[in-house]
Amino acid sequence: MRSRTSQKASQFTESVIREMTRLAQKHGAVNLSQGFPDFPAPEALKQAACDAVNADINQYAITWGAKPLRDAITADVSRRYGLSINPETQLAVCCGSTEAMMATMMGIVDPGDEVIVFEPYYENYGPDAILSGATPRFVSLRWSDPHRDWRYDSAELAAAFSNRTRAIIINTPNNPTGKVFSRGELEEIAALCRHWGAIAVTDEIYDHILYDDAVHVPMASLDGMAERTVTINSVSKTFSVTGWRVGWTIGPPDITNAIRKVHDFLTVGAAAPLQAAAAAALALPSSYYTELAAHYTIRRDRLLGILNHAGFTCYTPRGAYYIMTDISAFGFPDDVEFARYLATDIGVAAVPGSSFFRTPDGGRQKLRFCFCKKEETLAAAETRLQSLQVRSQKAEVRS
Ligand code: PLP
Repeated sequence: MRSRTSQKASQFTESVIREMTRLAQKHGAVNLSQGFPDFPAPEALKQAACDAVNADINQYAITWGAKPLRDAITADVSRRYGLSINPETQLAVCCGSTEAMMATMMGIVDPGDEVIVFEPYYENYGPDAILSGATPRFVSLRWSDPHRDWRYDSAELAAAFSNRTRAIIINTPNNPTGKVFSRGELEEIAALCRHWGAIAVTDEIYDHILYDDAVHVPMASLDGMAERTVTINSVSKTFSVTGWRVGWTIGPPDITNAIRKVHDFLTVGAAAPLQAAAAAALALPSSYYTELAAHYTIRRDRLLGILNHAGFTCYTPRGAYYIMTDISAFGFPDDVEFARYLATDIGVAAVPGSSFFRTPDGGRQKLRFCFCKKEETLAAAETRLQSLQVRSQKAEVRS
């Protein structure tokens, strides 16, 4: 008998990241799994949201985004990157970058088209590919000790492109690795996109969260790339409001038009009062962003210290707010078993590395922690991790 559920839905499981949050709640574990801040959102934003509700901005906004928000995004990318976009034709405001990515994939992909994805990858890209009918082609990012960075192999990347390639998804700064793609790497990807007529879909939601000397280079700023790039961003991470669900795409008019149509029939629009508040957020002074990066640098270094001391091998991130670790020192057969033990017996929740790989093998000895948390949350994790036993002496910091 035919199953009552679709083949598409049967091809992926529920989100492991969000499942870990539920496990953390059930066992009272310190939640360093899902990437959401546990400290308050900026006061000015909360006030702007309340003001918008009180001003009765409570009905549907224009489906592709309220004009004040589109204007604020246009001003923001012009100020920061010198990019000139038309808010009437090149922007689609969606319900977070999650919907923005889905609407983009459904707007550009036909069944059988190939989409290149760097692995490890943010877990949503797998289901995004399945739901849009894309065939994913994976290119590995591997830690390189000499470069102290995650790198891809240029030959492997070039071999992944063909005339079946519709798009490549790039996430920089990267979740889960913390890699920030260099200008040289992006130039190389851009040249392949131009050669094969592929679209670059770049998820840049951590563009303000950078460490040390890392610099964010928007793909759309490279020669000839604005016309073949969809840039995805949102207020979730930059303004610590992951629950607001306001994100957007910036792209050439023909692609934006397709995204807008898909978006309209998926969700009609993002919450109108929160779009107004997002516009206010984008008007915050530049000191806000400097303080954000400084605040996360302290937390990154704090969690690196805690994890290193507890016996994890840490891959120091240069952007975003996660630390990818190697767990071989603990002698567990796999990451899922270790993550469950950590959440239920030790009281700290993290995300099994395998959820960022197409097959469990890639992440079997990896675990991802997030540090977008209050000092007291990190301190509680530190206390709990003291009871964790290292079974070998392999732990080190990779930086
Ligand atoms: N893209 C990446 C790389 C993420 O890490 C996340 C959340 O963790 C998202 C997208 C989801 O963002 P949003 O809240 O804007 O949907």
